[in-house]
Amino acid sequence: MQETLRIATDQLQIAADFLRTGKTVAFPTETVYGLGADALNAQAVEKIFLAKGRPSDNPLIVHIASIAQLDEIASDISFLAKRLIERFWPGPLTIVVRRKSQVPNIVTAGLDTVAVRMPEHATARELIRLANRPIVAPSANCSGRPSATTWESVLADLDGRIDAIVCGGPTRIGLESTVVDATGTEPIILRHGAITQEMIASACGEVASGSSELQVRSPGTRHRHYQPQAKVQLVEDLFELNPSSQRCGMIGLSEAEHRDLIETRLKNRFPQATVRLCASQEEYASELFEFFRHCDRLGLDRIYCQRVPHLGLGRAIMDRLQRAAE
Ligand code: AMP
Ligand code: MG
Repeated sequence: MQETLRIATDQLQIAADFLRTGKTVAFPTETVYGLGADALNAQAVEKIFLAKGRPSDNPLIVHIASIAQLDEIASDISFLAKRLIERFWPGPLTIVVRRKSQVPNIVTAGLDTVAVRMPEHATARELIRLANRPIVAPSANCSGRPSATTWESVLADLDGRIDAIVCGGPTRIGLESTVVDATGTEPIILRHGAITQEMIASACGEVASGSSELQVRSPGTRHRHYQPQAKVQLVEDLFELNPSSQRCGMIGLSEAEHRDLIETRLKNRFPQATVRLCASQEEYASELFEFFRHCDRLGLDRIYCQRVPHLGLGRAIMDRLQRAAE
């Protein structure tokens, strides 16, 4: 066990020096907390796989703070990639491009491509700028568990296993970035996120997503993911439930104007349940993983999650829910 140093957001130089000397540092982004290391230092990157218990065939996303850093790691940037960069960076979009040979194999799991993102979060950008090198940053959680959206949840998984953490606020979006393969002429969505399929279609025209053949291109999607200890079950309507144990978790969505009323009705109907009703898809996305962790802390054995329509951000929510329920 090592001590994990807590670093305030106004002390980023300390965190950047850690990264520059091959150490691991968790930090907030607009999606979820990331666990950072110097992308060009294979030994530093290896520490991330060890700390998370991450399978070595799951490649990492490289985070950058400037377009100049993209040129250090990527080659043959396609017209399509340029269009996506122009439209969505900085932001929660990861773009898969051809890689340069100086990117260590451990980062890309041996692929000839590399996944890159320029986050918009001020702390994340400033940290990468100060570190002055590209930073790999997978979600800062034990592999397989729900991503961490608060620094407290990062430490619940990784305290004593990582060198430091930048203690910022909770993350805004709460789900991992959208991943798009931009090595061809048409974007292929490998993972849904807050940059939605509709947004990408309106920027680029055609979009492909979803088929199992395409998923093979994104090795991480093969692994167990996002799972709390409690069993997750998806339902259409929370009111129609007849739970075997009332000591369960329930999370769902309601129209904003009726949220409080419907939440009270649910609580009256299931007085021993832990109920969370969200007023928008954005709120559902940002609350979901922390709700999973909350239910685990309470020792609940089942969490019922209301399905949402497969549209916009709903695609990303349903993707995480389905994988949590596997
Ligand atoms: P994480 O950082 O834990 O949220 O996971 C990173 C995601 O990006 C995984 O789903 C990976 O499969 C995907 N990914 C990373 N690098 C590549 C790549 N070169 N090609 C395709 N997918 C990638
Ligand atoms: Mg992850």
